[in-house]
Amino acid sequence: MVSIPDLRIFSYGTTIAVGVLLWIIEGFNPWFSHQKRRTLHAKLNLSIAGLNLLILFPSGILMAFMLDWSRNAWPGIGMLALPPVAKAIVIILLIDLWMYLWHRLNHETSFLWRFHSIHHSDSTLDVTTSWRFHYIEILISELLRLPLFMLIGAGIEHLLLYSLFMTPVIEFQHGNISIPPALDRLVRLIIPSPMMHRLHHSRLRSEHDSNYGSMLSIWDRLFGSFLVKDNLDGLRLGLDDESGTDKQKLFALLLRPFRP
Ligand SMILES: [Zn+2]
Ligand SMILES: [Zn+2]
Repeated sequence: MVSIPDLRIFSYGTTIAVGVLLWIIEGFNPWFSHQKRRTLHAKLNLSIAGLNLLILFPSGILMAFMLDWSRNAWPGIGMLALPPVAKAIVIILLIDLWMYLWHRLNHETSFLWRFHSIHHSDSTLDVTTSWRFHYIEILISELLRLPLFMLIGAGIEHLLLYSLFMTPVIEFQHGNISIPPALDRLVRLIIPSPMMHRLHHSRLRSEHDSNYGSMLSIWDRLFGSFLVKDNLDGLRLGLDDESGTDKQKLFALLLRPFRP
């Protein structure tokens, strides 16, 4: 039986290891070969991500405490007579469904899009984009998911397990790595593939309002937001009028949602 501290270390370690591995592969096998100034781009995205850790660390501690407390009062899925593994699978699927709905809500609500658009304003896509989220988006996400996790009876071990599977998938989707189209077609049967997520970062709204899945691609297929194109020639990433160097600076991006 893996302890929670071990699971925590394993989850964080996997995130870092997969991130570094993809960054190395992007260096010699990129899909977008025109991307320059990788280090500068990574520095900006890591600065935005670093700020989010100030929310995620205390939130993780609070979440562990609250979930432990609430499970004694309300078992959620625990009320069903399921073996622990089946229970964990159901909870992980429900968390991934919530992530799909939350991501979709970020695109369909103008207030939430203000913050989520910071993720989409990146006109070059690589593994570091997977950590680029405005801190208000992270804060709202943490506040909304706590009562939801309490309702379904999730424990901190389920969240860590979900993170262990989901985070490498998120990094892989954003990775600027060239993989054979046949392999992309194969992986997207289960998880959102890099090709799918490149369309999600298209400048065209008709393309970026699609492929919202985090860990599994099934939700996009079920809810009609699955989009693929065999040929991505001419794909333009980012958002109109947001790629100027003056707009792609740390403070400009942090303040962007509060401007008209
Ligand atoms: Zn999005
Ligand atoms: Zn993305």
